[in-house]
Amino acid sequence: MEAREISYWTGSLDKHFFSSAYRALSENRDVEFKPEIRQGLGVVYDLFGIEIPEEKMRYYLERGYMEVVRDISIPACNICGDVCIRPWLVCPECSSTNIEKKDLMVHYDCNYMGSEEEFMQSRPVIYRCPKCGKELKRVGIDYGRPGFGYICRDCRSIFQIPLIWLVCEKGHKNKVDELIIKKYPIYRLSDEVKKLLPIYNIVEDLVRELASHGLRAEGFKYVKGISGTTYTIPIFIDGSPSIIVEFGLSEEIDERYPLMMLIEAIDIPNSIMFLILPHDFKPELESILNPEKIKVIKIHDLENSKDKIIRELITIHSVVMDEES
Ligand SMILES: [Zn+2]
Ligand SMILES: [Zn+2]
Ligand SMILES: [Zn+2]
Repeated sequence: MEAREISYWTGSLDKHFFSSAYRALSENRDVEFKPEIRQGLGVVYDLFGIEIPEEKMRYYLERGYMEVVRDISIPACNICGDVCIRPWLVCPECSSTNIEKKDLMVHYDCNYMGSEEEFMQSRPVIYRCPKCGKELKRVGIDYGRPGFGYICRDCRSIFQIPLIWLVCEKGHKNKVDELIIKKYPIYRLSDEVKKLLPIYNIVEDLVRELASHGLRAEGFKYVKGISGTTYTIPIFIDGSPSIIVEFGLSEEIDERYPLMMLIEAIDIPNSIMFLILPHDFKPELESILNPEKIKVIKIHDLENSKDKIIRELITIHSVVMDEES
């Protein structure tokens, strides 16, 4: 049961990721994902408004959707590696945390030092030493103002700098120089995912439509080839064979494109490819595509060709399924 829930969660997170990335790209927003520390959680990333653990970002990195901009160093507990660290300020004499920061005064005659409040015993403001009872009139002569310092309420010692413990959520105490440094990447969208995003809306529409016709279609599916190479397939229709739908966009088509598609078609086991190409795709390049593995459809405009694509896909799907049974 648990595994199902996780896979559902992953699926809906992918959807959130692709749709938000699509919006960011169409608004020309450059996005970076920076590690942030959340008490009780550790390091999280804000993925377009959803906080996700670091492992999830690494999953997107492995899929090629993200790339690393640079690393950030985050201090962590040297015992358990926890990054949720809070400072504890303690008395250097007795280690009590019951300390106060106060504006200090010192009476030169008797050397008594304490907080300003201890010397303010009557109104209007007349300072009187709480130890020897003398009135203090002239700063610099009767008394001094050394500035702010800390007073321990347990042992009464006064000190300028408290002892600082950096304490993790498990309660391990570290001194500053004992902390370890962990590195966490700042991520941004990869060029690979930016290439997929322009067709995001079309893919979503097509997948919904294919599913309503009973086809097990999935958008932006991550598939591993026989060679070990991984592909993000814009539309993957599960079956035997499966149908891979690829979109050749005019801007990214070059001389190598047909060969790359052929390699992909051969590399993904038990599949055929449905390749959507612009109408001006060069016929001499088309000859490289193996018609046994790759069905080509040429269109003028993607947005207005959705019905045609759906019809062709349903036909191919029923033909290959019939051949199988
Ligand atoms: Zn710890
Ligand atoms: Zn103390
Ligand atoms: Zn005094």
